[in-house]
Amino acid sequence: MDDTALSALRELLGARVSDSQAERALHAGTEAHHAPGLPDAVVWPESTDEVAAIVRLCARHGLAIVPFGAGSSLEGNASAPQGGVCLDMTRMGRVLRVSPEDLDCTVQAGVTREALNHHLRDSGLFFPVDPGANATLGGMAATRASGTTTVRYGSMREAVLSLTVVTPEGEILRTAGRARKSAAGYDLTRLFLGSEGTLGVITEVSLRLFGRPEQIRSAVCRFPDPDAACRTAIEAIQLGLPLARVEYLDAGCIRAVNAFSQRAEAETDTLFLEFHGAPAALEEQIALFGEIAEGHGGTGFRWAEREEERNALWRARHSAYNATVNQRAGAKGWATDVCVPVSALPDCILHAKGLLADVPVPASIMGHVGDGNFHVVFSVDTNSEAEMQAVKAFNDALVAKALSVEGTCTGEHGVGLGKRKYMEAEHGPALALMRRLKTALDPAGLMNPGKIFP
Ligand SMILES: Cc1cc2nc3c(=O)[nH]c(=O)nc-3n(C[C@H](O)[C@H](O)[C@H](O)COP(=O)(O)OP(=O)(O)OC[C@H]3O[C@@H](n4cnc5c(N)ncnc54)[C@H](O)[C@@H]3O)c2cc1C
Repeated sequence: MDDTALSALRELLGARVSDSQAERALHAGTEAHHAPGLPDAVVWPESTDEVAAIVRLCARHGLAIVPFGAGSSLEGNASAPQGGVCLDMTRMGRVLRVSPEDLDCTVQAGVTREALNHHLRDSGLFFPVDPGANATLGGMAATRASGTTTVRYGSMREAVLSLTVVTPEGEILRTAGRARKSAAGYDLTRLFLGSEGTLGVITEVSLRLFGRPEQIRSAVCRFPDPDAACRTAIEAIQLGLPLARVEYLDAGCIRAVNAFSQRAEAETDTLFLEFHGAPAALEEQIALFGEIAEGHGGTGFRWAEREEERNALWRARHSAYNATVNQRAGAKGWATDVCVPVSALPDCILHAKGLLADVPVPASIMGHVGDGNFHVVFSVDTNSEAEMQAVKAFNDALVAKALSVEGTCTGEHGVGLGKRKYMEAEHGPALALMRRLKTALDPAGLMNPGKIFP
């Protein structure tokens, strides 16, 4: 990046520009196993107008633009392999509006999901989408994120009502109003959801909210094998049980979580569950779920009655990625992310277990089984060519299996750098349409270049 561009950024933003090695390295997208990609400079905008001015400045100087939220994405999505300007969105951290009657709100893109729920704590409302990390809502919209409650409340695809976006030309657009439904033309909101910063910068997000459930009950249940655990979840959903969370952890994952979170769960295939609702309805649902689980050999039901117990349970589940990765000092995480129709899930997990026999790298399996989405998380030594190759071959084989049953290479983490090579096989001719859309919106190719497309 030349001095003229850097000076122009400094003129616009004053001290909210840095080209220090330390800040560039902090914004290189190194959460997982991908090689770091350092931007040339990092900037911290505070308003939509500032984002628009930065984008126009970058366009004039031909600089790549990489939006950056919490940097928690796992596929190198927020790295800057071609340099350019990283827009750290975390100073856009204001909740702009909450409408209890409409059950919705509007936030700046840098608000994190935990900050939003903290803001809502006295309102009787909550925002349910909960990826394991404390991600920003802009980043979550940009990756079409989901989490443990998606089986009940949906993912970012369902949660987002509209976006304010700065286009690659520096124009400010709102993709929709706040109406719950609309048939007015193309669905631009969903075009930007999952676009990973390649089509524009999201500066504001309007979101659906939900009333806090009257009662919450969480439980742990053990199973003899993954098939039994998955079939229990599938049958419960088929019977219409409104499970709020149903998460699968294999024996290796439970071992890692026990060590990391000082728990003492039996080291076997396990479901972590949650039910939300009125007390009487919950009793019925829980009894029915118990019958289904027993029919599949489920045992050792344990209910977390108190709020602290429940929170500890879900903290442990959310720690499963770090618990697995931190089994080895200096190792990095590599998480697969296939998602398949739920009926194909038991077979897909068994297939993964079979493939794992040939991979000499510590791994856990954890999954949002109600959505047909699971992760094999490896604790990989990125300096070992043999380990990297073995995990890569595993991922290739697992994605091939998922695509063979009409699944996807990524249920929630996005494409970034890591899943680009599967896009052709997954989308066929539809990938060419995606490329045409990208070129139409960003003809100079400056928005988060090198991502999504092979
Ligand atoms: C321990 C752990 C557990 C996780 N569990 C889950 C999970 O359960 N479900 C899940 O979906 N993900 C999960 N993730 C992945 C990650 O948290 C999500 O991808 C999250 O949505 C990323 O948000 P972020 O704010 O960190 O975005 P970043 O990582 O900063 O960016 C992600 C992508 O979005 C783009 N972007 C960021 N902000 C904007 C913006 N304002 N406008 C346009 N583009 C933008 C970036 O350029 C990049 O392409 C997990 C990660 C970790 C570390």
